[in-house]
Amino acid sequence: MHLTLDLESEAAMDNILEVKDLRVSFKTFFGEVEAVRGVSFNVPRSKTVAIVGESGCGKSVTANSIMKLLPDPPAFYKGGSILFEGEDIVKKTDKEMRNIRGKSISMVFQDPMTSLNPTMKVGKQIMEGLLKHENISKEEAKKRAIEILKMVSVPKAETRIDQYPHEFSGGMRQRVMIAIAMVMNPKLMIADEPTTALDVTVQAQILDLMKKLQNEFGMSIILITHDLGVVADMSNMVEVMYAGQIMEEGTTDDIFYNTKHPYTRKLLASLPRLDMDRNNKLQAIHGTPPDLYIPPKGCPFYERCDEAMVVCKDHPAPISEHGKGHLCRCWLYDENMPKEGTWNL
Ligand code: SF4
Repeated sequence: MHLTLDLESEAAMDNILEVKDLRVSFKTFFGEVEAVRGVSFNVPRSKTVAIVGESGCGKSVTANSIMKLLPDPPAFYKGGSILFEGEDIVKKTDKEMRNIRGKSISMVFQDPMTSLNPTMKVGKQIMEGLLKHENISKEEAKKRAIEILKMVSVPKAETRIDQYPHEFSGGMRQRVMIAIAMVMNPKLMIADEPTTALDVTVQAQILDLMKKLQNEFGMSIILITHDLGVVADMSNMVEVMYAGQIMEEGTTDDIFYNTKHPYTRKLLASLPRLDMDRNNKLQAIHGTPPDLYIPPKGCPFYERCDEAMVVCKDHPAPISEHGKGHLCRCWLYDENMPKEGTWNL
């Protein structure tokens, strides 16, 4: 059984993307790093799925695998499939991927400062995709680029289209990134930490803009983030990732109000809350994620888990269901586990 939402019976929730048992590794001088280890999840049409977890847990590798943007070598697909509208992206050639990227699936990268080309005017960067994928003149492409800049609320779009990225503020640069991602009206947008480099006010504006564009165009979004506040605000479903695996998945309400996995609980406990007693300290998750050169045999969270049991160390945790589509990878919920006593460390 894979950690995946069973949505097959719900025709209304058809999926634009189905990731099944995805395995991605990196060949390095010291050996193989298993960065993504059997990840499965679905993205329903017009919905937002958030992938959350600490740095290094495999979120961005998963996102880049969907776009086939990982350099091969050292990265390689070890197994599984990524079905986009029923077609396996893993099997696509570079040429086929060039027709999918930007047009059907687009990506907003985390740092607009380094993701935009500093030597090209922003208008040219927005027009690039249009000129490549659509049979239109430069004048028509420029008109569309100005329209999209206005749509993402860049003031004086007619003038700013001829400016370079360094002439824009951080928030405005991120709007340009979103304009580039949106200009072809993609079916799926992958936003990899889209607001990490921005201050909170600008962050709220960018998130509102993404929601507005999603409502207008009906695209699906995969939101990669470590910020649970952003997740609560934006997503319909959440995948909690750790050490290259999905630990818990469910609706946003499942994850926030019916939390099952000890790792998710710890992530939530590390968040500041408005109703928190000011004398209470925020909880840190002690320790570090495991070394994926030698992935642990059992539960990867074993070394950091307050509820760890003997069985967790060497045996992969089973997946249990806690309501429709709410799944958790943890020994605590195995039906054969004794409720008390001897199994605890
Ligand atoms: Fe903790 Fe064991 Fe559950 Fe892993 S399987 S999260 S170690 S209780």
